[in-house]
Amino acid sequence: MLNRSQADWIHLDIMDGVFVPNISFGPMVVERVKKSSLLPLDVHLMIVQPEKYISTFRLAGADILTVHYEACTHLHRTIQQIKAEGMKAGVSLNPHTPVSLLEDIIHDIDLVLIMSVNPGFGGQKFIENSYLKIHQLSRLINDRQSRTLIEVDGGVDTNNAAKLVDAGVNVLVAGNSVFSSTDPVGTIAILKGENSR
Ligand code: ZN
Repeated sequence: MLNRSQADWIHLDIMDGVFVPNISFGPMVVERVKKSSLLPLDVHLMIVQPEKYISTFRLAGADILTVHYEACTHLHRTIQQIKAEGMKAGVSLNPHTPVSLLEDIIHDIDLVLIMSVNPGFGGQKFIENSYLKIHQLSRLINDRQSRTLIEVDGGVDTNNAAKLVDAGVNVLVAGNSVFSSTDPVGTIAILKGENSR
């Protein structure tokens, strides 16, 4: 279904039951998705010590690998390791983590993933303060003339997609709003702005 939809990437949430209170799946499932998918795999590691698994997820087929700011003591080194494996490197911020903490590393990051819910479960309500963080991040990226993409994950649906794009978001992650829809392909088209074109 995703291969014939207008989705650009497939976003995969890896949860370890330690960094977040839930367990999802690991590299074996990513590998299976890679075999069926025509789209780049955007792998979001919600795990502790993500630096231990960078090459594992590369081998499983990740094209973009995102780690959590809160899970990395040596973030700069971890980012360089991801890039050395030939992947795009992303950093995710939990709702309580300020954007300003990325000031000294924004140039090294391909993508910043703003968590607009607390990570760990699907189907949660969008946290409104995320708009403020998107504006702050957008300003930081512009001030530093960086090419970093802004991605938002959690509570994204057809009601807030256009507003998020207007606020400066480049990548929308939608799980529940797509997969619980009666017409997932149509919902993806609406999220992509197909209805307004
Ligand atoms: Zn995610």
